[in-house]
Amino acid sequence: MNEYKKDMIKMLCDLIEIKAVSPDFEGEGEVEKADYLMKKLDFFDLIQRYDYKDERAKDGVRPNIVAKIKGVLNRTIWIITHLDVVPAGNKNLWKYDPFKANIEGNKIYGRGAEDNGQAIVSSFYAAKAIHESKKLPKFSFGLVFVSDEESGNEYGIKKLVKERIFSKDDMFLVPDVSSPKGDAIEIAEKSVLWLKITVHGDQMHGSRPLGINASRRAMKIVLDLDEKLHNKFSARNYLFDLPYSTFEPTKREKNVDNINTIPGVDVSYMDCRILPNYDLQEVLDYIENIRRFYEMRDGKRVDIEVVHRSSSPQTPENVEIVNRLKKLLIEVRKVEPRLIGIGGNTCAAVLRSERFLDTVAWFTADGTAHKPNEYCIIQNMVEDAKIFYLLPFEPLR
Ligand SMILES: [Zn+2]
Repeated sequence: MNEYKKDMIKMLCDLIEIKAVSPDFEGEGEVEKADYLMKKLDFFDLIQRYDYKDERAKDGVRPNIVAKIKGVLNRTIWIITHLDVVPAGNKNLWKYDPFKANIEGNKIYGRGAEDNGQAIVSSFYAAKAIHESKKLPKFSFGLVFVSDEESGNEYGIKKLVKERIFSKDDMFLVPDVSSPKGDAIEIAEKSVLWLKITVHGDQMHGSRPLGINASRRAMKIVLDLDEKLHNKFSARNYLFDLPYSTFEPTKREKNVDNINTIPGVDVSYMDCRILPNYDLQEVLDYIENIRRFYEMRDGKRVDIEVVHRSSSPQTPENVEIVNRLKKLLIEVRKVEPRLIGIGGNTCAAVLRSERFLDTVAWFTADGTAHKPNEYCIIQNMVEDAKIFYLLPFEPLR
Protein backbone atom coordinates (compact mmCIF):
# COMPACT_ATOMS: atom_id res chain seq x y z
CA MET A 1 0.00 0.00 0.00
CA ASN A 2 2.94 2.34 0.67
CA GLU A 3 3.51 2.67 -3.08
CA TYR A 4 0.18 4.53 -3.26
CA LYS A 5 1.01 6.92 -0.44
CA LYS A 6 1.82 9.93 -2.63
CA ASP A 7 -1.36 9.47 -4.67
CA MET A 8 -3.40 9.08 -1.52
CA ILE A 9 -2.09 12.35 -0.12
CA LYS A 10 -2.89 14.10 -3.40
CA MET A 11 -6.42 12.68 -3.45
CA LEU A 12 -7.19 13.72 0.11
CA CYS A 13 -5.92 17.24 -0.60
CA ASP A 14 -8.17 17.41 -3.68
CA LEU A 15 -11.19 16.22 -1.67
CA ILE A 16 -10.64 18.80 1.09
CA GLU A 17 -10.61 21.58 -1.49
CA ILE A 18 -13.91 20.50 -3.06
CA LYS A 19 -16.24 21.99 -0.47
CA ALA A 20 -19.26 19.73 0.03
CA VAL A 21 -21.44 21.35 2.67
CA SER A 22 -25.13 20.43 2.86
CA PRO A 23 -27.76 23.01 1.81
CA ASP A 24 -29.04 22.61 5.37
CA PHE A 25 -25.93 24.57 6.38
CA GLU A 26 -26.08 27.01 3.44
CA GLY A 27 -23.77 24.90 1.25
CA GLU A 28 -24.07 23.74 -2.37
CA GLY A 29 -24.07 20.02 -1.67
CA GLU A 30 -21.91 17.14 -2.82
CA VAL A 31 -22.23 17.07 -6.60
CA GLU A 32 -18.73 18.35 -7.41
CA LYS A 33 -17.11 15.83 -5.13
CA ALA A 34 -19.17 13.02 -6.65
CA ASP A 35 -18.16 14.12 -10.17
CA TYR A 36 -14.51 14.12 -9.12
CA LEU A 37 -14.81 10.54 -7.81
CA MET A 38 -16.78 9.28 -10.82
CA LYS A 39 -13.77 10.05 -13.04
CA LYS A 40 -11.61 7.68 -10.99
CA LEU A 41 -13.89 4.66 -10.83
CA ASP A 42 -13.55 3.17 -14.32
CA PHE A 43 -11.72 0.03 -13.11
CA PHE A 44 -14.73 -1.17 -11.07
CA ASP A 45 -16.93 -3.96 -12.47
CA LEU A 46 -20.09 -2.07 -11.67
CA ILE A 47 -20.67 1.65 -11.16
CA GLN A 48 -24.05 3.09 -10.37
CA ARG A 49 -24.99 6.61 -9.45
CA TYR A 50 -28.13 7.50 -7.50
CA ASP A 51 -28.91 11.21 -7.66
CA TYR A 52 -31.78 12.27 -5.42
CA LYS A 53 -33.61 15.51 -6.15
CA ASP A 54 -32.95 18.44 -3.84
CA GLU A 55 -33.61 21.79 -5.48
CA ARG A 56 -31.54 23.63 -2.88
CA ALA A 57 -28.33 21.90 -3.96
CA LYS A 58 -26.06 22.60 -6.95
CA ASP A 59 -27.48 20.89 -10.08
CA GLY A 60 -30.60 20.16 -8.00
CA VAL A 61 -29.34 16.81 -6.77
CA ARG A 62 -27.69 15.02 -3.87
CA PRO A 63 -25.45 12.35 -5.43
CA ASN A 64 -24.66 8.85 -4.20
CA ILE A 65 -22.28 6.38 -5.85
CA VAL A 66 -22.12 2.60 -5.63
CA ALA A 67 -19.13 0.80 -7.16
CA LYS A 68 -18.25 -2.88 -6.94
CA ILE A 69 -15.40 -5.25 -7.73
CA LYS A 70 -16.62 -8.79 -8.21
CA GLY A 71 -15.22 -11.57 -6.06
CA VAL A 72 -15.75 -15.33 -6.10
CA LEU A 73 -18.96 -14.86 -4.15
CA ASN A 74 -21.69 -12.37 -4.78
CA ARG A 75 -21.75 -11.72 -1.04
CA THR A 76 -20.24 -8.27 -0.70
CA ILE A 77 -18.21 -6.35 1.84
CA TRP A 78 -19.34 -2.74 1.53
CA ILE A 79 -17.36 0.23 2.79
CA ILE A 80 -19.63 3.20 3.23
CA THR A 81 -18.24 6.73 3.41
CA HIS A 82 -19.92 10.11 3.19
CA LEU A 83 -19.17 12.94 0.79
CA ASP A 84 -20.54 15.83 2.83
CA VAL A 85 -18.63 17.78 5.46
CA VAL A 86 -19.80 20.06 8.26
CA PRO A 87 -19.14 23.82 7.99
CA ALA A 88 -15.83 25.21 9.25
CA GLY A 89 -17.35 26.86 12.34
CA ASN A 90 -15.44 29.84 13.73
CA LYS A 91 -12.71 30.49 11.12
CA ASN A 92 -10.53 32.36 13.64
CA LEU A 93 -9.91 29.12 15.48
CA TRP A 94 -8.25 27.56 12.41
CA LYS A 95 -4.55 27.99 11.75
CA TYR A 96 -5.09 27.43 8.01
CA ASP A 97 -7.96 28.06 5.59
CA PRO A 98 -10.29 25.12 6.40
CA PHE A 99 -11.06 24.50 2.72
CA LYS A 100 -7.43 24.52 1.58
CA ALA A 101 -5.38 21.40 2.28
CA ASN A 102 -2.24 21.99 4.31
CA ILE A 103 0.37 19.35 4.97
CA GLU A 104 2.38 19.76 8.15
CA GLY A 105 4.68 16.91 9.16
CA ASN A 106 2.67 13.69 9.14
CA LYS A 107 -0.71 15.45 9.09
CA ILE A 108 -3.03 16.91 6.48
CA TYR A 109 -5.23 19.73 7.78
CA GLY A 110 -8.61 20.80 6.44
CA ARG A 111 -12.34 20.43 6.99
CA GLY A 112 -13.27 16.87 6.08
CA ALA A 113 -9.68 15.58 6.37
CA GLU A 114 -10.73 13.07 9.00
CA ASP A 115 -14.52 13.15 8.56
CA ASN A 116 -14.82 11.48 6.10
CA GLY A 117 -12.11 12.22 3.49
CA GLN A 118 -9.47 9.96 5.01
CA ALA A 119 -11.67 6.88 4.64
CA ILE A 120 -12.89 7.84 1.18
CA VAL A 121 -9.25 7.72 0.14
CA SER A 122 -8.27 4.57 2.05
CA SER A 123 -11.28 2.61 0.80
CA PHE A 124 -10.68 3.82 -2.76
CA TYR A 125 -7.02 2.75 -2.73
CA ALA A 126 -7.93 -0.58 -1.14
CA ALA A 127 -10.18 -1.20 -4.15
CA LYS A 128 -7.48 -0.05 -6.54
CA ALA A 129 -4.96 -2.40 -4.92
CA ILE A 130 -7.41 -5.32 -5.16
CA HIS A 131 -7.89 -4.57 -8.85
CA GLU A 132 -4.16 -4.21 -9.54
CA SER A 133 -3.27 -7.35 -7.57
CA LYS A 134 -5.08 -9.38 -10.30
CA LYS A 135 -6.17 -11.71 -7.49
CA LEU A 136 -9.82 -12.64 -7.16
CA PRO A 137 -11.05 -11.94 -3.62
CA LYS A 138 -13.45 -14.37 -1.98
CA PHE A 139 -16.05 -11.70 -1.33
CA SER A 140 -17.11 -8.96 -3.70
CA PHE A 141 -15.84 -5.57 -2.57
CA GLY A 142 -18.08 -2.54 -2.81
CA LEU A 143 -17.64 1.14 -2.15
CA VAL A 144 -20.55 3.42 -1.39
CA PHE A 145 -20.20 7.19 -1.31
CA VAL A 146 -23.26 8.83 0.20
CA SER A 147 -24.60 12.35 0.58
CA ASP A 148 -26.30 14.01 3.52
CA GLU A 149 -24.72 12.08 6.39
CA GLU A 150 -24.21 15.15 8.54
CA SER A 151 -27.81 16.30 8.53
CA GLY A 152 -30.14 13.35 8.61
CA ASN A 153 -29.27 10.90 5.78
CA GLU A 154 -32.54 11.66 3.96
CA TYR A 155 -30.80 12.07 0.57
CA GLY A 156 -28.25 9.36 1.22
CA ILE A 157 -28.14 6.03 2.98
CA LYS A 158 -31.83 6.12 4.01
CA LYS A 159 -32.87 6.12 0.34
CA LEU A 160 -30.10 3.78 -0.80
CA VAL A 161 -31.18 1.00 1.54
CA LYS A 162 -34.51 0.93 -0.33
CA GLU A 163 -32.85 0.48 -3.76
CA ARG A 164 -32.23 -3.30 -3.57
CA ILE A 165 -28.49 -2.81 -3.88
CA PHE A 166 -27.60 -4.56 -0.64
CA SER A 167 -28.42 -8.09 0.37
CA LYS A 168 -29.14 -9.21 3.91
CA ASP A 169 -26.06 -11.44 4.04
CA ASP A 170 -23.72 -8.67 2.88
CA MET A 171 -21.23 -7.14 5.30
CA PHE A 172 -20.85 -3.44 6.01
CA LEU A 173 -18.03 -1.33 7.35
CA VAL A 174 -18.71 2.33 8.08
CA PRO A 175 -15.40 4.12 8.72
CA ASP A 176 -16.98 6.96 10.66
CA VAL A 177 -16.21 6.01 14.27
CA SER A 178 -12.55 6.10 15.18
CA SER A 179 -10.01 5.42 17.87
CA PRO A 180 -6.39 6.65 17.83
CA LYS A 181 -4.94 3.11 17.81
CA GLY A 182 -7.63 1.61 15.60
CA ASP A 183 -8.55 -0.95 18.24
CA ALA A 184 -12.21 0.04 18.79
CA ILE A 185 -14.87 -1.72 16.72
CA GLU A 186 -18.28 -0.08 17.07
CA ILE A 187 -21.23 -2.47 17.08
CA ALA A 188 -24.04 -0.41 18.65
CA GLU A 189 -25.43 3.12 18.80
CA LYS A 190 -27.79 4.62 21.34
CA SER A 191 -31.32 5.54 20.29
CA VAL A 192 -31.90 9.22 19.74
CA LEU A 193 -34.99 11.09 20.87
CA TRP A 194 -35.36 14.84 20.40
CA LEU A 195 -38.32 16.43 22.14
CA LYS A 196 -39.97 19.83 21.79
CA ILE A 197 -41.83 20.76 24.96
CA THR A 198 -44.37 23.57 24.66
CA VAL A 199 -45.74 24.71 28.00
CA HIS A 200 -48.73 27.06 28.21
CA GLY A 201 -49.65 29.59 30.87
CA ASP A 202 -51.14 33.09 31.14
CA GLN A 203 -49.40 36.11 29.70
CA MET A 204 -49.53 38.86 32.33
CA HIS A 205 -47.92 42.03 33.62
CA GLY A 206 -44.79 41.28 35.65
CA SER A 207 -46.21 43.06 38.68
CA ARG A 208 -49.48 41.07 38.74
CA PRO A 209 -48.61 37.35 38.66
CA LEU A 210 -52.16 36.14 39.24
CA GLY A 211 -52.18 33.29 36.72
CA ILE A 212 -49.74 30.62 35.59
CA ASN A 213 -46.25 31.75 34.60
CA ALA A 214 -45.35 29.57 31.58
CA SER A 215 -41.61 30.06 32.15
CA ARG A 216 -41.69 28.84 35.76
CA ARG A 217 -44.04 26.00 34.87
CA ALA A 218 -41.76 24.93 32.00
CA MET A 219 -38.65 24.92 34.19
CA LYS A 220 -40.40 22.73 36.75
CA ILE A 221 -41.76 20.32 34.16
CA VAL A 222 -38.43 20.00 32.36
CA LEU A 223 -36.53 19.44 35.60
CA ASP A 224 -39.10 16.87 36.67
CA LEU A 225 -38.82 15.05 33.33
CA ASP A 226 -35.04 15.17 33.65
CA GLU A 227 -35.07 13.60 37.10
CA LYS A 228 -37.81 11.03 36.46
CA LEU A 229 -36.31 9.83 33.16
CA HIS A 230 -32.88 9.39 34.73
CA ASN A 231 -34.38 7.39 37.61
CA LYS A 232 -36.66 5.22 35.53
CA PHE A 233 -34.25 4.39 32.69
CA SER A 234 -31.13 3.96 34.77
CA ALA A 235 -29.67 0.77 33.28
CA ARG A 236 -25.92 0.50 32.78
CA ASN A 237 -24.37 -0.98 29.64
CA TYR A 238 -20.56 -0.97 29.66
CA LEU A 239 -20.25 -1.48 25.92
CA PHE A 240 -20.89 2.26 25.82
CA ASP A 241 -18.55 5.03 26.84
CA LEU A 242 -21.04 6.88 29.00
CA PRO A 243 -22.57 3.54 30.01
CA TYR A 244 -25.99 5.05 30.77
CA SER A 245 -28.83 6.81 28.96
CA THR A 246 -28.68 10.61 28.87
CA PHE A 247 -31.60 13.09 28.98
CA GLU A 248 -30.41 16.64 28.46
CA PRO A 249 -32.44 19.85 28.36
CA THR A 250 -30.80 21.82 25.54
CA LYS A 251 -32.32 24.56 23.41
CA ARG A 252 -34.79 27.08 24.79
CA GLU A 253 -36.77 29.38 22.52
CA LYS A 254 -36.99 33.06 23.17
CA ASN A 255 -40.28 34.05 24.82
CA VAL A 256 -41.26 37.66 25.61
CA ASP A 257 -39.25 40.74 24.55
CA ASN A 258 -39.37 42.62 27.81
CA ILE A 259 -38.55 41.83 31.40
CA ASN A 260 -41.85 43.04 32.80
CA THR A 261 -44.10 40.63 30.90
CA ILE A 262 -44.74 37.14 32.23
CA PRO A 263 -44.70 34.73 29.28
CA GLY A 264 -47.83 32.82 28.30
CA VAL A 265 -45.93 30.18 26.31
CA ASP A 266 -42.51 28.62 26.81
CA VAL A 267 -40.75 26.24 24.42
CA SER A 268 -37.80 24.07 25.42
CA TYR A 269 -36.09 21.01 23.96
CA MET A 270 -34.44 17.83 25.20
CA ASP A 271 -31.81 15.65 23.55
CA CYS A 272 -32.14 12.08 24.86
CA ARG A 273 -29.67 9.28 24.03
CA ILE A 274 -31.07 5.98 25.18
CA LEU A 275 -29.37 2.63 25.63
CA PRO A 276 -30.64 -0.16 23.36
CA ASN A 277 -31.73 -1.92 26.59
CA TYR A 278 -34.93 0.13 26.27
CA ASP A 279 -37.62 0.29 23.65
CA LEU A 280 -38.18 3.91 22.62
CA GLN A 281 -41.94 3.43 22.81
CA GLU A 282 -41.60 2.54 26.48
CA VAL A 283 -39.77 5.83 27.08
CA LEU A 284 -42.37 7.79 25.11
CA ASP A 285 -45.25 6.20 27.01
CA TYR A 286 -43.63 7.18 30.28
CA ILE A 287 -43.15 10.77 29.09
CA GLU A 288 -46.80 10.86 28.02
CA ASN A 289 -47.89 9.92 31.56
CA ILE A 290 -45.91 12.81 33.02
CA ARG A 291 -47.28 15.21 30.41
CA ARG A 292 -50.85 14.19 31.17
CA PHE A 293 -50.31 14.57 34.91
CA TYR A 294 -49.23 18.23 34.54
CA GLU A 295 -52.02 19.00 32.11
CA MET A 296 -54.67 17.63 34.46
CA ARG A 297 -53.21 19.13 37.61
CA ASP A 298 -52.77 22.65 36.22
CA GLY A 299 -55.67 22.74 33.77
CA LYS A 300 -53.29 24.13 31.12
CA ARG A 301 -51.88 22.55 28.00
CA VAL A 302 -48.48 20.90 27.73
CA ASP A 303 -47.49 19.67 24.25
CA ILE A 304 -44.60 17.28 23.78
CA GLU A 305 -43.62 16.74 20.17
CA VAL A 306 -41.06 14.23 18.89
CA VAL A 307 -38.80 16.27 16.60
CA HIS A 308 -36.60 13.32 15.71
CA ARG A 309 -36.33 9.70 16.75
CA SER A 310 -34.17 6.84 15.62
CA SER A 311 -33.20 3.52 17.06
CA SER A 312 -31.29 0.54 15.82
CA PRO A 313 -30.49 -2.95 17.09
CA GLN A 314 -27.02 -3.95 18.12
CA THR A 315 -24.77 -5.94 15.78
CA PRO A 316 -24.25 -9.39 17.34
CA GLU A 317 -20.71 -9.83 18.65
CA ASN A 318 -19.83 -12.87 16.54
CA VAL A 319 -20.95 -11.93 13.00
CA GLU A 320 -18.50 -12.36 10.15
CA ILE A 321 -17.44 -8.73 9.68
CA VAL A 322 -16.61 -8.43 13.39
CA ASN A 323 -14.55 -11.61 13.30
CA ARG A 324 -12.71 -10.71 10.09
CA LEU A 325 -11.86 -7.23 11.29
CA LYS A 326 -10.77 -8.48 14.73
CA LYS A 327 -8.44 -11.03 13.16
CA LEU A 328 -6.82 -8.42 10.92
CA LEU A 329 -6.38 -5.97 13.78
CA ILE A 330 -4.64 -8.60 15.87
CA GLU A 331 -2.42 -9.97 13.12
CA VAL A 332 -1.65 -6.92 11.01
CA ARG A 333 -2.14 -4.01 13.36
CA LYS A 334 -0.93 -5.85 16.48
CA VAL A 335 -3.63 -4.31 18.68
CA GLU A 336 -6.16 -5.97 20.99
CA PRO A 337 -9.59 -5.21 19.48
CA ARG A 338 -12.39 -4.08 21.77
CA LEU A 339 -16.10 -3.75 20.96
CA ILE A 340 -17.79 -0.45 21.74
CA GLY A 341 -21.09 1.41 21.48
CA ILE A 342 -21.51 5.15 20.94
CA GLY A 343 -24.06 7.87 21.67
CA GLY A 344 -23.92 9.46 18.21
CA ASN A 345 -25.47 8.13 15.03
CA THR A 346 -23.76 7.07 11.81
CA CYS A 347 -24.86 5.30 8.61
CA ALA A 348 -24.38 2.07 10.58
CA ALA A 349 -27.52 2.85 12.62
CA VAL A 350 -29.57 3.23 9.44
CA LEU A 351 -28.29 -0.10 8.13
CA ARG A 352 -28.95 -1.88 11.41
CA SER A 353 -32.45 -0.45 11.65
CA GLU A 354 -33.14 -2.03 8.23
CA ARG A 355 -31.87 -5.36 9.60
CA PHE A 356 -28.49 -5.26 7.87
CA LEU A 357 -26.89 -6.57 11.03
CA ASP A 358 -23.46 -7.60 9.77
CA THR A 359 -22.32 -4.00 10.26
CA VAL A 360 -19.44 -2.35 12.10
CA ALA A 361 -18.07 1.17 12.30
CA TRP A 362 -14.31 1.45 12.46
CA PHE A 363 -11.28 3.46 11.39
CA THR A 364 -8.15 4.98 12.87
CA ALA A 365 -8.02 8.67 13.80
CA ASP A 366 -7.47 11.07 16.67
CA GLY A 367 -11.08 12.29 16.75
CA THR A 368 -10.83 15.82 15.32
CA ALA A 369 -14.09 15.56 13.35
CA HIS A 370 -16.23 18.75 13.47
CA LYS A 371 -13.49 20.59 15.42
CA PRO A 372 -11.33 23.47 14.19
CA ASN A 373 -7.96 22.31 12.78
CA GLU A 374 -9.37 18.94 11.79
CA TYR A 375 -6.60 16.72 10.46
CA CYS A 376 -5.77 13.30 9.09
CA ILE A 377 -2.60 11.45 10.08
CA ILE A 378 -1.22 10.25 6.75
CA GLN A 379 -0.02 6.91 8.10
CA ASN A 380 -3.49 6.10 9.50
CA MET A 381 -4.92 6.58 6.02
CA VAL A 382 -2.36 4.17 4.57
CA GLU A 383 -2.64 1.57 7.35
CA ASP A 384 -6.45 1.55 7.18
CA ALA A 385 -6.24 1.00 3.41
CA LYS A 386 -4.22 -2.17 4.11
CA ILE A 387 -6.95 -3.49 6.41
CA PHE A 388 -9.69 -2.65 3.89
CA TYR A 389 -7.67 -4.33 1.16
CA LEU A 390 -7.24 -7.58 3.11
CA LEU A 391 -10.86 -7.84 4.29
CA PRO A 392 -12.38 -9.61 1.24
CA PHE A 393 -9.60 -12.19 0.78
CA GLU A 394 -9.52 -15.76 2.11
CA PRO A 395 -7.35 -16.67 3.89
CA LEU A 396 -7.32 -13.22 5.39
CA ARG A 397 -3.58 -12.90 4.79
ZN1 LIG B 1 -18.62 11.45 9.52
